[in-house]
Amino acid sequence: MTYKVAFVTGASSGIGEVTAKKLLQQGYIVYAAARRIERMEPMSRLGIHILSLDVTDETSRHAAITHIMTQSGRLDILVNNAGYGAYGALEDIPLEEARAQFDVNVFGAMRLIQLSLPHMRRQKSGTIINVSSIGGKIYTPLGGWYHGSKFALEALSDCLRLEVAPFGIHVVIIEPGGIKTEWADIAAAKLLKTSGHGPYAAQAHAMAQTITGTLSRRYQSAPELIANTIVKAVTTDQPKTRYVAGLGAKPLLLLRHLLSDRLFDRLIRLTAKKSRRL
Ligand code: NDP
Repeated sequence: MTYKVAFVTGASSGIGEVTAKKLLQQGYIVYAAARRIERMEPMSRLGIHILSLDVTDETSRHAAITHIMTQSGRLDILVNNAGYGAYGALEDIPLEEARAQFDVNVFGAMRLIQLSLPHMRRQKSGTIINVSSIGGKIYTPLGGWYHGSKFALEALSDCLRLEVAPFGIHVVIIEPGGIKTEWADIAAAKLLKTSGHGPYAAQAHAMAQTITGTLSRRYQSAPELIANTIVKAVTTDQPKTRYVAGLGAKPLLLLRHLLSDRLFDRLIRLTAKKSRRL
């Protein structure tokens, strides 16, 4: 075999965009997908194949996988990266918003896995990368549906890893900490729209400031860090089951492991307060 094919979702910005470029540099044939294809035009000039994809739409998902298989004949790497944070108080978020959150972060990713697996099984190889978050292990107020979606993605990925290992397919979970992308602004905007008025307004404004505030901006890690982590995972013979990287990720996961729920609650409140003051 002389070439390998990678498919990256959520590639119109942030982690996905940089990952697609890094995989191209590694010699992969790369398919980069998102809804805003105009944002990906510069990537097509680099030689990356651009696909229009809404991960919530079955026709769109089918078309993407069919296109890759027809054009390249194989699929080696699937990077399920598309995602966003539907922030807001659990009391306030309409269930259709909650379902939309799971449609993108969970069902979109899982359906692309279902569509990719027959090809990977036939090849007897493949790597599925699911971009979760440290938010798949820890929690914050007003992020319930986002955390719920990432916790779900973690559990599904663990089960999947066991199911597909006999076919020579790897499943890898990526758990980024704070990364400088468009994610925070989108989450904060959703938060303020949903809970910026009413009983949770004070919490919502404080949390929006924490997410987008100076401390976050100053210390957030570059998306290159996560893209490099993904490249490392896909170019290793025996990848780890999880990779943790980015601002605050390792210490926060360690503290979650060590502290009781009550102590961790206090830590989360304190961290939010401190980051607003800076
Ligand atoms: P960005 O907002 O920069 O990128 C998100 C990408 O997801 C965009 O390309 C967007 O493309 C795509 N996307 C969103 N909805 C859909 C959809 N329905 N169909 C197809 N694509 C969609 O954020 P990041 O790069 O930071 O996020 C990438 C992943 O990393 C997400 O899963 C996020 O949860 C996770 N993460 C991010 C962290 C951070 O601090 N930034 C921390 C931990 C995890 P388009 O709108 O054009 O469709």
